[in-house]
Order: sequence, then C-alpha cells, then structure tokens
Amino acid sequence: MKITRVETFAVPPRWLLCRIETDEGLVGWGEPVVEGRADTVRAAVHELAEQFLVGADPLRIEDHWQLMTKGSFYRGGPVLSSAVAGLDQALWDIAGKAFGAPVHQLLGGPVRDRARAYCWVGGDEPAQIHEEVTAQVEAGFTAVKMNASGRTDRLPSVADLDQVAARAQAAREALGPTGDFAVDFHGRLSVAGAIRAVAALEPYAPMFVEEPVLPEHTHLIGRVTESTTLPIATGERLYSRAEVLPALRSGVAVLQPDLSHAGGISESRRIAVLAETFDVAVAPHCPLGPLALAASLQLAFCTPNFLIQEQSIGIHYHSGAELLDYVTDPEVFRFHEGHLLRPTGPGLGVEIDERAVRRADGAAASWHNPVWRHPDGSFAEW
Ligand SMILES: [Mg+2]
Repeated sequence: MKITRVETFAVPPRWLLCRIETDEGLVGWGEPVVEGRADTVRAAVHELAEQFLVGADPLRIEDHWQLMTKGSFYRGGPVLSSAVAGLDQALWDIAGKAFGAPVHQLLGGPVRDRARAYCWVGGDEPAQIHEEVTAQVEAGFTAVKMNASGRTDRLPSVADLDQVAARAQAAREALGPTGDFAVDFHGRLSVAGAIRAVAALEPYAPMFVEEPVLPEHTHLIGRVTESTTLPIATGERLYSRAEVLPALRSGVAVLQPDLSHAGGISESRRIAVLAETFDVAVAPHCPLGPLALAASLQLAFCTPNFLIQEQSIGIHYHSGAELLDYVTDPEVFRFHEGHLLRPTGPGLGVEIDERAVRRADGAAASWHNPVWRHPDGSFAEW
C-alpha cells in the first residue's frame, strides 16, 4: 500500500482537517491545527506530506513520525508538532482500517468501558455560573470546566481574588459534594499571583487548577504545586515528551496533552506513559473538531492514567458549524451520563461526512484569538 495524495480542508468554525489517500482505496483522516494559525499549519502539512509521505507505505507510522519530527534540522514548536499530529492521526486511522480494528485495540486494547468527559461553562457572574452548571448537571455531566477569572493583573488585586473565589463557590454550590469542576487561568498570573489565587480556591476543592502560569514559566510551576493541596494541571501548550518533563518533575497532578498539537496519537501516547511514571493523570485538551476528539478517545481507552476528556460539542464560542456537522455517525459522540462510550469502528472510529467537509472547505473566515489589553494599554494574556 502506498500513499497517493494528502489533502487539507479549512472548515468552520476554526479547524483544519487532513485526508490521506492510498492506492488501495483506504483513506485516513486527521486534524492538524493550531487555533488561530490554521493557514500556517496547512502549509506545513503539505510540505511534510510532499517530503516524507507521498509514495510511502502508510503503515510505517513510527518511521514516518521520526522523519517528520527529526528529518529537518529545525524542529518542534506548535506549528510543526500540530502538522505532524494531524498526519499521525490519519496514518493511525488508515492502520486501524487496514487491520480492521480501532486504534486503541492496536495499542493494547481497552482498559475502561467508558470515558468521563467534561463540558465548558461560560459566564462571568456567579449567578450565571450557578445557572449554567446546573443545566449541565441536568444534562447528565458530572464535571465542568470554566475560566478561573476574567482579565486580571499578573498580581491579582483583592477584588480579583474575591471574584476567583466567588465563581468557584457558585460552581461548588451548584454541584454539591459529588460533582467536579475545574478552573483554567490561561497563564494570566505571575507565580506569586498564582500562589495567592490558588489559595483562594482551596475551600471549594476544584478537581484541578489549569495553567496558573504560562507554559514558558513551567520551570517555576513547582512553587505553585508546593504551595497548595489542590491538583495543578498544565500541558495544552507543551508539544513533546521533552517539553512535559519539567512539568512532571515540578509536581503537577494532571497533564493535558492535545492530540492535535503534541505530535498526534504516537507522541501523546508516549507522554501519557511518561506521566504514569510520575503518578500523574492525563486529561487531554480538546476544544477542536471530530477527529481531534476521536483521536483523544482512542488514547483514553488504552491509557490507565486517563482522568477525563475535554470536548467542545455545542460549545458557545463555535460559530458557523458544529463538531457533529462533519460526521455521519454522531452516535459515537453521544453522551451517556456525562461519559462517551468506547468507539468500536476501525481506525479512529468515526465516519467523516466527506461531502460536508468538501463543501465547507474555505468557508471559514480566519479565526484569531482576541487580543486583550490592561487599562494602562499594555498587553494582557487572553
Ligand atoms: Mg486551557
């Protein structure tokens, strides 16, 4: 079997899908994207495909991964790692279809029967948070995630800290003692600010506190983990085993590799195994489309230290299209008491609606994340 063609599709709301075709008729799909840099990743996908994949045997996944990540002198980073990630997913999809098995079966078989998932709740005011969390609990979810704060100074004021606590209190009151919520700081705080903000969260016992500091300050995150009893999470902006190692050594409790950023199924699997040696759970980051979620689920079902899956079905910030618009078998992504069931189809276990994808290609206006500023006009983390 040989790879004959690699195509990419830029589709709303902000996703990039890739399709690898073979001379035996088998086709694999993946999702290589960096949110806000889809066009840049698209160029990288085609460059890598032309250089390493077209004409090659798709079943030599690891050899392709080695060449795509190491075959150029300059390597790594979000753009290249995400391009490799989507291509790697598509190669695993082909392998699963070639062997007639879901990817998690090729990786050792299932270690669980269902995967717990959380959904996002928006809302800036505690009353809104209470209402939104209650709605998700009524929909069957047992866990939610929300922003820990709005725009904040690197050293939060007393008012900022009160707001962090009030939001967490609203979530905890809506959930009671059995449900879980996680909060995400998006790296908006300095180390010193994070230590104070995490302390303010302690009474409400979030499941984890995400990105209290920026990924480039991961070498300092140990000061946060040592200051608190709360589990600290990071990893959506770390792209390889080498990049997660300092976080693991710093005592984080939860690692959040993104299957579409961190080198695909191949590298995320290795990251999960590495995390296991540090007694750290993985909660794959996934605000993306159907193939990123399908790839994440394949990892979830063969990973003993999997904690919970992020997903963005029906999320408030998607405009123009929805995750389920691009699949012909939405049952795969139906929630059962806040869990996703084990996918049993071959490969990634999801059927892409190719006509819908081709129709949507190019319909997405370029998406970029907002740029925030502090009241004095200086740049603020979003
Ligand atoms: Mg996050």
